[in-house]
Amino acid sequence: MLGQLLLAASGSRLVRRSVSGFPLTRKVVQRFVAGESTQEARDAVERLRDANLAVSVDHLGEETRDARAAEATTNAYLALLTALRPLQLGSRGEVSVKLSAVGQRLDDAMALEHAREICAAAAVNGSSVTLDMEDHTTVDSTLTILRKLREDFPATGVAIQAYLFRSEEDCRDLASEGSRVRLVKGAYREPASVAHQGRGAVDKAFVRCLRILMAGKGYPMVATHDDRMIAITELLADRFGRTIGDHEFQMLYGIRTDRQEALAGAGHTVRVYVPYGDDWYGYFMRRLAERPANVAFFLRALGGK
Ligand SMILES: Cc1cc2nc3c(=O)[nH]c(=O)nc-3n(C[C@H](O)[C@H](O)[C@H](O)COP(=O)(O)OP(=O)(O)OC[C@H]3O[C@@H](n4cnc5c(N)ncnc54)[C@H](O)[C@@H]3O)c2cc1C
Repeated sequence: MLGQLLLAASGSRLVRRSVSGFPLTRKVVQRFVAGESTQEARDAVERLRDANLAVSVDHLGEETRDARAAEATTNAYLALLTALRPLQLGSRGEVSVKLSAVGQRLDDAMALEHAREICAAAAVNGSSVTLDMEDHTTVDSTLTILRKLREDFPATGVAIQAYLFRSEEDCRDLASEGSRVRLVKGAYREPASVAHQGRGAVDKAFVRCLRILMAGKGYPMVATHDDRMIAITELLADRFGRTIGDHEFQMLYGIRTDRQEALAGAGHTVRVYVPYGDDWYGYFMRRLAERPANVAFFLRALGGK
């Protein structure tokens, strides 16, 4: 119930204005966001690299309805990739892009062009881009843009949300040689006409999608903090003869860091999704919605405790 309210609030411009106006303490932001500047993002990436963790860095922002803002976001990614270049992370230093932040709401061609520029800059680093998946109305457009990007940049990845009814079919289409697919449960408020509702149904759908990806020929990126899903991934890897280097785990910055390090210590590739920038509102509200305990943490920090 609280989660649904927070997800509704994540899309409200009015609530965004009020919450963003709070003198939000650094402590709250720092829990989930690596900082506001490119330099802070780079520092966080260096710390994670030293802990044997790979990264996917996200410049915060979404739902851009202004061409200049879409261009500014693209330029922020180009500056970030330039700043990361000396770290020589190769494929361990990718970026995640929300197409709505680079113009998808205005014009698919604009989003494709901006995403292409980012892919080209990532390729110079020996790395690639993963397209985040946003609300269900964007899935067809995102998958079309993915196919076009992969013509020149075959390592481009995409997130698939297990909660959508369509996702098993999408996983089947995407489980081809070299195809990088990040499987997530899904973080948006979706209607019962398009998505499974409730934790049990979403978990079962996640396992069905996971099975398709692990049995396929692609490179599954299993993005979850859920121990049961991690254990099932390991069972499926055994069943389908996968080895430790042909799939990876992903988790969010600041969430279950002990688990991230333990999996990396056991030899797995673990990639941390590192958000940075000042447009933190939508991302932050989705993290609160996922776990009521985070709301208590937020309120305590606002109270200065
Ligand atoms: C790398 C990565 C990329 C993602 N990209 C996308 C995307 O492109 N599109 C999209 O819709 N969603 C994305 N998500 C979010 C995803 O859809 C889920 O909302 C989120 O991962 C929570 O689901 P879970 O699998 O961790 O399981 P849950 O069942 O939500 O959680 C399992 C356990 O993990 C821990 N946990 C989970 N969330 C939190 C939290 N916020 N704070 C503290 N502990 C927590 C708790 O112990 C919880 O019991 C991404 C997630 C990750 C990890």
